This record gives sequence, C-alpha cells and structure tokens, in this order.
Amino acid sequence: MKIHEYQAKEILRQYNIPLPHGEVAESPEKAKEIASSLRTTVVVKAQVHAGGRGKGGGIRLAETPKEAYDAAKAIIGMKLVTHQTGPEGKIVKKVLVEQATDIKQELYLSLLVDRSRNKECLVYMASQAGGMDIEDVASTSPEKIIKAAISPATGYSPFHARKLFYGLGLDKSLSTQFSNIIKALYQIFVAKDASLIEINPLVITQDGNLIALDTKITFDDDGIYRHPEIKEMRDINEEDPLEVEAVNTGVNYIKLDGEVGCMVNGAGLAMTTMDLIKLAGGEPANFLDVGGGASAERVEKAFRILTSDPKVKAILVNIFGGILRCDRVANGLIEAASKIDKKLPMVVRLQGTNVEEGRKLLQNSNLKFEVAEELYEAARKAVELSRSTIP
Ligand code: GDP
Ligand code: MN
Repeated sequence: MKIHEYQAKEILRQYNIPLPHGEVAESPEKAKEIASSLRTTVVVKAQVHAGGRGKGGGIRLAETPKEAYDAAKAIIGMKLVTHQTGPEGKIVKKVLVEQATDIKQELYLSLLVDRSRNKECLVYMASQAGGMDIEDVASTSPEKIIKAAISPATGYSPFHARKLFYGLGLDKSLSTQFSNIIKALYQIFVAKDASLIEINPLVITQDGNLIALDTKITFDDDGIYRHPEIKEMRDINEEDPLEVEAVNTGVNYIKLDGEVGCMVNGAGLAMTTMDLIKLAGGEPANFLDVGGGASAERVEKAFRILTSDPKVKAILVNIFGGILRCDRVANGLIEAASKIDKKLPMVVRLQGTNVEEGRKLLQNSNLKFEVAEELYEAARKAVELSRSTIP
C-alpha cells in the first residue's frame, strides 16, 4: 500500500527526521492561509501516488501568499502526467504547502527489501545523484549507488550509517544528523512493516543541515492489519480500480503488462500457469487467483476484471476442480461469459472431479471456448490466440 507524501512526512516527523514545515490544503484559500502563517517562500506540491511531479508541473515555488493561492489553484484539479502515472495521468485533489528550502546538494536515500539476497534482505541505498530517477542512475552509472545491507537477525548497527556516510563522502559536520536519519529509517521500517522508504531528495541545505525534502513509503499489504493508523491513510482514488474491485470480492489480482489474461484457482497453480505462458512465448496480463472456492460470483467478477483490461487479447482459464466439481465450474464460466459483452478468445483447461462433464458443457455451449486437456497445450493456444486477434 502506498500513501501520500504529506502522510509519509507525518510518520518521519514522529521519528525526528528533519523536514520542512508545512501543511496539506484542499483549496487555494487554505494554501494561501498556510503560506501566510509560514511567512516565507513556499513550495506547493501536488499530492498523488506517483513520483516525477517536478517534471510534470506538479511542484511550484511561491514567494507570496497570493502566489501560493495561484499555484494551488493551478495544481488542484489538474491532470498530472508523470512517467509513473502513465498517459492517463492523475487528478490532483490536495497540495502540500511547505517552507521552501535553499538547496546546496540533493542526495538519494532509501531502505528497501531486496528479494535477490537471502540472508541480508534489507538494503540501504544512497547516492550523490539525488533528485533524479534512481532507476536511471542505477542503469547508467551503478557505481554511484552505495549500498549497505542489514541482516534481519542482527538489525541495524552504526556500521551501516558509517558505510553510507563515507561512501557519500559527506562533510564530518553532518555525521550525527546523518546517522540519526539512517537509524530512524530502520526503526520506521520495522515498526510499520514497510517495504520501501525513500527520501529523494535528502537535501544538504545552504546553512549546512540535512532535511528530507521528499519522501515515499510503501507498506507490506500483509502487515497493514497490525497498523490501523496506516490503514486509515489509504486513498482508494489513487489505486488501480481493477485491483480495488478484486480485493473487495476476495479475488487475488495483480495487474501485469502482457496480453494473456489468466484465471486460475490457487496461487501455486497461478504461478505455474504464468510460467507456461512465458514458456510458450507469451506474456501474462495478470496474476489472478480466484481462490479455492471459486464460486460462480467470483468467476464472473474475475471475468469482468480480465475483460476490462484493454491489453488482454485472450483469456486462459486453468481450474482444478476438487471440492468444487468441474461441471459446476463449467456452468459458472458459461454463465459469466454469456453475461459479458466483450468477447475474447478463451482457452479453458479443467482437471479434477467430473472433468468429462465439464468439458462437454463447454464444448456444447454456443460460446466459443477452446477446451484443452494439458496445461502447456492450453498455454500455447492462448498465446497463439492473443496474437491472432485483430484489434
Ligand atoms: P518529485 O518530482 O515528485 O520527486 O518531487 P520532489 O519533491 O522530489 O521535487 C522535485 C524537485 O523539485 C527536487 O528534486 C528539487 O530540485 C525541487 N524542489 C522541491 N522542493 C524544493 C524546495 O523547497 N526548494 C527548491 N529550491 N527546490 C525544490
Ligand atoms: Mn522526489
């Protein structure tokens, strides 16, 4: 789960990480009021769950309260398009109005879970090349990124802060401030079940202090139930509507970039299905697990989710009928597919109890199901069909 910058800053503030003073506003009037009380030049920042706001016109400096009013008026309601929002953009509802900072240098700092390591799975990353997209830095000049890995068994130690500090070549006068921030990031990460905390940029100010100018926190969805205060920060407007709908019906859905939509029961079977789509030369459009029960209602919801993704060109259904018999699954599929207008090629592979009856039902229905027996054959057919449809 993601939260807004202003919410992430509330959390950082509780852990004494230095931040610019500021407040969130939903109207230009409120933005003007905040700017008047701050009595300095301010920055007005669009609050959306996406980075790259600076380049997209979502961040403006304002020297007077009147200018803050104008900036907020221009930003609130705008459709902000950044490299992270995709071409559809995001409508801005709120702005953060903050005391502007005189920047001497912008650094990058983050703490995240690195799944490619097994024992030391938390990793700090820091770079002198702050402010810009770290993905670009990582691909063009990886030597500019300094890393310090933490073993969850032993946790944080001052060694981590020292390694990053010397790696960045910072001035000695910043050492205490810097190590306090590094330590606080670890405390937040563990206490709140985060999966990423990023400060970009972490700024060295003209008067020689460190300040977190922008921050982003992502939480582990499976840990949210332990943190009601974080659950409250959820902003559904910012989330993928298909994923929200899936969560509400108990369907486990994650959107991906390919063309073959998959509907499977069981997470392991879903992963196998995705692997076989790849092996057959295609790309899965999603991970979708309708769950062990796979009721007719869930099957229908899953169909709706798959067909409303414009990238999906063919659907592969792979269901193992155990307690829920294959004939009932087949009836559920026929019912669901006949209710949905958008017709996509569908390959169905059923196995399990009453499989023959299930296949017959599908073959005899007037909907065009391609019935397959073996999984790889099903995957190959689905990939082929996803290529042959005329858009
Ligand atoms: P992002 O583009 O969504 O990551 O938003 P940021 O908050 O990181 O802002 C982008 C850039 O705007 C920063 O890297 C800074 O260069 C600039 N910026 C943001 N706030 C201030 C500020 O208070 N003063 C100055 N001088 N520049 C700022
Ligand atoms: Mn940033």
